[in-house]
Amino acid sequence: MTSSAPKPKADLLISGAAEVLTCVAARGDPLGRIARGCVAIAGDRIIAVGSAAEISSAADISAARVIDAGGGVLAPGFVDCHTHMVFGGSRSAEYGAKMTRTAAEVAAMGIPAGIPATVAMTRSTEPGRLVTESIDRLNRMFRSGSTTIESKSGYGLNWEHELKQLETSRRLSQACPADIVSTFLGAHDFPPEISPDQYMDVLVREMIPRVAELKLAEFCDVYCDAGYYSAGQTRRILETGLAHGLKPKIHADAYSETGIASLAIELGAVSMDHLNFTTPSEMKRLAEAGVVGVGLPALDFAVNHPKPFDARAVIESGMTLALATNLNPANWTETMHFVMVLACRRHGLSSEEAMLAATLGAAKALCREHDIGSLQPGKLADIQIWAIPRFEEFVYRLDCNPIVGLIKRGREIALPR
Ligand SMILES: [Zn+2]
Repeated sequence: MTSSAPKPKADLLISGAAEVLTCVAARGDPLGRIARGCVAIAGDRIIAVGSAAEISSAADISAARVIDAGGGVLAPGFVDCHTHMVFGGSRSAEYGAKMTRTAAEVAAMGIPAGIPATVAMTRSTEPGRLVTESIDRLNRMFRSGSTTIESKSGYGLNWEHELKQLETSRRLSQACPADIVSTFLGAHDFPPEISPDQYMDVLVREMIPRVAELKLAEFCDVYCDAGYYSAGQTRRILETGLAHGLKPKIHADAYSETGIASLAIELGAVSMDHLNFTTPSEMKRLAEAGVVGVGLPALDFAVNHPKPFDARAVIESGMTLALATNLNPANWTETMHFVMVLACRRHGLSSEEAMLAATLGAAKALCREHDIGSLQPGKLADIQIWAIPRFEEFVYRLDCNPIVGLIKRGREIALPR
């Protein structure tokens, strides 16, 4: 830019940070940290990131309102790319009983368990209450730094109640500044009242076309595993979704080796999630096809998974790794901080790798890497302000929420309680 060219006018400037995590590798630093960096914003977008001198030469900040980061850290908002946040009830009885008993013993005690238990509770929750309870969770997620959150259906398993969940997700977008990304997961389990074959016909002939027509979801997802959806059923569902403009995602290999990676590659799935039993050679082929791997450390922790997903193998295969809370009644966590702590200690990630997986990697798992996931000019100004002096403190402090400021789409948001 020449000195005579008009500089873009910033209306917001965040300064006074000890460091800015751009989450774009630079100078050998995977997080592209800028010591004492600033961020200039115009409207809902970032227009400059850099030192004070670089900002002054790149943007006109003369009329900008200034937010003082107070010697803390600026980071991109987290992207929670896999959640089942709209659900009714609680499974605390099941969780508590399974601390000291086997699943068979818990079943013999008559304690409702698993997805069928939540389907029953979600169906019996009236729509207004479902919205209220989901907004509570959403506010806590946003308060924990998640500025974009995916929300799956899949606890209705019939049109009436899948629609109730999807409409709740839509109402959440209006209730909280976080962006909500909707996924149709009618193929989460099979409903108790009709046969699996009958339900397959309902899914592909009625539900998927209606979801697409009403623009209730952007992605179509399937739970492919032993005892859930087979490879053939997964193909039929995802191909129907694609024919109606819904991008494919797959819950895969969580409890058995399904071999579904080949289908994920063939159909151009955006992400494959869980990956506990996915083999290194499958990961390599998934990497070449650009399928994002989504790891869910909180689930592996909550169910004491016998084979936790191998995050190192995912990274070494070349796949883009994303992390997500997988918030659902079986692993009730709303915070990406907890997920990152687990990912580092139990899945062998470095704190930098966990941070990238919780931001840019997760943005890619939602096809939004051009808009969010890093602090770069042109991207949405979704920014967290942490009251810690350096990034390393974030994962090191095992139980903390250092967030003292949130900027969403260029607007400073009062933190919800
Ligand atoms: Zn899930």
